Amino acid sequence: MVREAIDEARRELLQDPAKPAPSEASVAADVRRRAAARFGVRARRVINATGVLLHTNLGRAPLSERASQAVGETMRGYAAIELDLQTGKRGRRGAFLDSALAEVSGAQSAVVVNNCAAAVLLLLATVARGRSVIVSRGELIEIGGGFRVPDVMAESGARLVEVGTTNKTRIADYQRALDENPDVAAILRVHPGNFRQTGFVERPSLTALASLARAKGLPLLKDLGGGALVELGQAGFEGEPTVQSCLVAGANAVTFSTDKVLGGPQGGAILGDQAIVDRVRKHPLMRAFRLGRLPLVALEATLESYLVGTAWSEVPALAMASADVDTLRRRANAIAATLEDVRVADTEAEMGGGSLAGRTVPSVGLAITAGAGDSADALVGRLRAQTPAVVARVVSGDVILDLRTVSPSEDAALGAALHEALRPLG
Ligand SMILES: *Cc1c(COP(=O)(O)O)cnc(C)c1O
Repeated sequence: MVREAIDEARRELLQDPAKPAPSEASVAADVRRRAAARFGVRARRVINATGVLLHTNLGRAPLSERASQAVGETMRGYAAIELDLQTGKRGRRGAFLDSALAEVSGAQSAVVVNNCAAAVLLLLATVARGRSVIVSRGELIEIGGGFRVPDVMAESGARLVEVGTTNKTRIADYQRALDENPDVAAILRVHPGNFRQTGFVERPSLTALASLARAKGLPLLKDLGGGALVELGQAGFEGEPTVQSCLVAGANAVTFSTDKVLGGPQGGAILGDQAIVDRVRKHPLMRAFRLGRLPLVALEATLESYLVGTAWSEVPALAMASADVDTLRRRANAIAATLEDVRVADTEAEMGGGSLAGRTVPSVGLAITAGAGDSADALVGRLRAQTPAVVARVVSGDVILDLRTVSPSEDAALGAALHEALRPLG
């Protein structure tokens, strides 16, 4: 890149010898521009000032200190991923992870694959390949990134039996489908976390569905999507069911992402009845979907926080979700005090990551109205060009930086990035 920039300067000089030679600084700037174009597309560290806690475009949940340290320490060398250090014999990959997840959730057994899409596909392939699965029409949803429930079901080899209508499905609809389809292998309930139906809507409770499934000797599968292992109502996010509540209601197997409200690395969990989880583990697709060692180590450490009861303070997604507004305001005031033209504003933060659609919690942020000759879009562009990059939103023409999704340890860097981005143009 340095050579390219020098060659370019030389070429220009040869073409027009009358022109003054480019300064060292301008060649250096050209090198920086080339490097940014070449490496700028990498998955770089950013400060998330969007107010969306689990931002899918920003890697969903940030990892805890405990998880980051575990990854750093364990990954530099070899790791006992499939070796039992007590016996010296081959161990089962993810054994601690599976037992920790079962312990925290109260499930009989658990297994983790590389995302929730894989978990659903694997579960259906295991339980229902070549047979029918009943799903409500109101739950045939698309989750971002092209994951559509009917398509995943088709890939698993299960046949979809749709019941009810978009807005209303009754227990009698399931009953009728069971009577008409002798080859039903399971009932599937999908949690429509990324959109909300209101008004004239009805669907049976998970408990009612579980009794029907039990009476027919069939498993009830629940694709929960978000994997809340704690009651999020504590942080003001009402209405997200927990993994435990699905199991208590009678679901035989629950699938969820480990990088949504659980707050860990990318992964997908399948937990529930021992017999189902055992069959999932032996399925040939298990090998194709198994969790990589980086997320495995990170998820073990994240679950450790739940096991020892420190998840609310240690897992960033939970700590940020539950941060109190007064603390956010104090931080916003401190940053705004060092900058001109930056106001403190009340904002609304949301969970994101396909959970709790439309529900927000009060938050506090910084607001900037772009000056003459500048624009909000240009300003968010300059914020993205900082190191670390700052991702902000434009709301009604103002640039808004929400502090709920910014770690207190990032406040200084956020202030510095704002200072740079707000420097007089030209
Ligand atoms: C998010 C979500 C998925 C997909 O999870 P990934 O981990 O992104 O693969 C599946 N089902 C539901 C209900 C979801 O919300």
